Amino acid sequence: MSEDAKRIKMQDDEIFTDEHRALRKTVRAFAKGLSEHALEWDEAGIFPREVFKQAGDLGLLGIRADPNFGGLGLDWWYTTCYVEELVQSRNAGLNMALMVQSDMATPIINEIGSDELKREFLEPAIAGDKIAALGVSEPGGGSDVAAIRTTAKRDGDDYIINGQKLWITNGTRADFITLAVRTGDDGFGGISLLVFPTDVKGFHVGKSLKKIGNKSSDTAEIFFEDCRVPARYLLGEENQGFYHIMTNFQGERLVAAQGCVAGMDLAVRDAIRYGTDRKAFGRPVMKFQVWRHKMVEHLTSIEAARRLTYFATDKVNKAPMAATKEITMAKLFAGDLAQKVIYDCMQIHGGFGYVTEYDISRAWTDIRLITIGGGTSEIMKEILTKLEGL
Ligand SMILES: Cc1cc2nc3c(=O)[nH]c(=O)nc-3n(C[C@H](O)[C@H](O)[C@H](O)COP(=O)(O)OP(=O)(O)OC[C@H]3O[C@@H](n4cnc5c(N)ncnc54)[C@H](O)[C@@H]3O)c2cc1C
Repeated sequence: MSEDAKRIKMQDDEIFTDEHRALRKTVRAFAKGLSEHALEWDEAGIFPREVFKQAGDLGLLGIRADPNFGGLGLDWWYTTCYVEELVQSRNAGLNMALMVQSDMATPIINEIGSDELKREFLEPAIAGDKIAALGVSEPGGGSDVAAIRTTAKRDGDDYIINGQKLWITNGTRADFITLAVRTGDDGFGGISLLVFPTDVKGFHVGKSLKKIGNKSSDTAEIFFEDCRVPARYLLGEENQGFYHIMTNFQGERLVAAQGCVAGMDLAVRDAIRYGTDRKAFGRPVMKFQVWRHKMVEHLTSIEAARRLTYFATDKVNKAPMAATKEITMAKLFAGDLAQKVIYDCMQIHGGFGYVTEYDISRAWTDIRLITIGGGTSEIMKEILTKLEGL
């Protein structure tokens, strides 16, 4: 690796080229169009399936994926542009659903799937013709992935799957699920991954969970009763699934951190605008020093969080497995910070901040998820504890 390639890029003009800016423009226009329906889709608890297709047509569902299967074959900085601009949709649920498709359920297929599986599942998912979900969590195994109990037993050329998954984003309408199953002994060594098409007999969707935030994305409990899938749907080697899940988590956590930073930034800009227009005691609320100080403090912390996510992004680009520490820190730091930032951005709106028509009220409930989903803040600390040898 050349000295230049080893150097961490930290200045925006070193990182982002005209091509990145063109992608930003495309995503921003797409997301702004979606924002017109943000409240409507949150109230409906779902958004139209066509949005996946629209995102696929723009190339957003396979930015880093293999061009032989419809991907753009680009690097993580392009993903950063996609994630940062998508917040303009002002609908965290929809953003999460798209990112489950582009950055959580399909990268494993891109990395370790056979060409046959890529053709059957990855290509239509990148095009937005099929909806993908990631099925890892279960009622008895969220943080503790090694505790999952859904089994896949080999029977001739097939696997027979029995069990249950919980919290599955896109779960009510996914065409396929990148599914974690137990093929071996208890513990992390007995887990495999396979692609599960949801039209298989014995599969059914339970209830769509009613949530306090991210409302436009469906979150399902799903059941498997003697579901038979061909053994060729296995991803990678049998009983090696845990390692692939942990690797996949790095991408999931990085986009979560990037989206969180961009969401905070948007909320602060909105809050400053609101506080500048809104008058109390004869002057704009933003003219009170307490608010000016709060907002600049938040902008400072957001910038620090952004630089941490960029540091992690640069490391991932150079050596995909070498950034676990930075990604974990970025998700932990951005997630915890966002709770304070969004709280204050809501507070400056007074009573209007409590009304669902105002984006900030929904941002406040949406943001609560960041310290829970994709690995809780406590789990981020546990990972860092181990990495620091404590
Ligand atoms: C809206 C939503 C969407 C989701 N989408 C998906 C999806 O698409 N696919 C999927 O597979 N999963 C999904 N999840 C699941 C999510 O990843 C889990 O909820 C998360 O990992 C936490 O697991 P849990 O809910 O079982 O909590 P638990 O693991 O039961 O944790 C409960 C509490 O105990 C703490 N805790 C656990 N272990 C430790 C420890 N070692 N040290 C200290 N504290 C600890 C946790 O931090 C937490 O505070 C989703 C969840 C939500 C809410």
